[in-house]
Amino acid sequence: MLDRFNRNLNYLRISVTDRCNLRCSYCMPEEGIILLPHEEILSYDEIAEFTRIAVDNGVTKVRITGGEPLVRKGISALVGMISDIKGITDLSMTTNGVLLKQYADELRAAGLHRVNISLDTIDPEKFRALTLTGNIYNVFEGIRAARNAGLLPVKINCVIKESKNEEAALGVTRYCEENNLEIRYIKQMDLVKGHFSTVEGGTGGDCSLCNRLRLTANGKLKPCLFSNIEFDIRELGFEKAIMLAAGSKPECGSKNENNEFYNIGG
Ligand code: SAM
Repeated sequence: MLDRFNRNLNYLRISVTDRCNLRCSYCMPEEGIILLPHEEILSYDEIAEFTRIAVDNGVTKVRITGGEPLVRKGISALVGMISDIKGITDLSMTTNGVLLKQYADELRAAGLHRVNISLDTIDPEKFRALTLTGNIYNVFEGIRAARNAGLLPVKINCVIKESKNEEAALGVTRYCEENNLEIRYIKQMDLVKGHFSTVEGGTGGDCSLCNRLRLTANGKLKPCLFSNIEFDIRELGFEKAIMLAAGSKPECGSKNENNEFYNIGG
């Protein structure tokens, strides 16, 4: 599926929930968020059917994200439904890793190929301060479980303020080297102010290469993370929403005043 700027939109990111078991200070307010009502959240059948139509239209890469995807009940069933769709060559998940020890084997068995795990510091106290509720040892165990389950390559997403030479990032870099993990440095972004930059070690943030469409947990299809444009897949119908999103993908991101990372998935 080519857009107006000849970019091949072959990558769908699906946020399956706005709920999260962490409260990373740069992502979610400490007091929490007003959660989407359950009836607004897309069912697994709706997500799988939407994905099937997206694949019919050229999508080959799918990433499951959130909120925290592992807090949605029965997530492995959704992975199984998506992995049954012929034509997907890369099926991945972005997770904070806290629950991964419990789920890694069943996710792999359901057909998940690989995971990206978010880790901004390896210091247990700083991790707790950053995430408010997190125990870093659960994440370390989750990373180990992902590797053992064969969810490879395991990639680490490390959010930095300005530079990968910050103390916290240096610690994560060392940990990744010692454990043979790929790392990507993501500069902290601001959707409302339109502050974004390229992801070091990844492909995000370079608008000329952007091949993504993003589906929110309540069924809004967004052609760009840094834009207010979105199409309601339930109101419009799945195929029409895909066509409209592809046709209106901006050449470059600007600002997003309607969403936050926790409801689009980063
Ligand atoms: N809960 C999952 C996780 O922690 O990976 C998936 C959702 S989370 C919103 C996806 C990614 O977005 C994470 O790697 C997170 O660090 C990143 N993220 C969240 N807020 C961000 C911000 N303001 N700037 C840059 N990255 C951000």
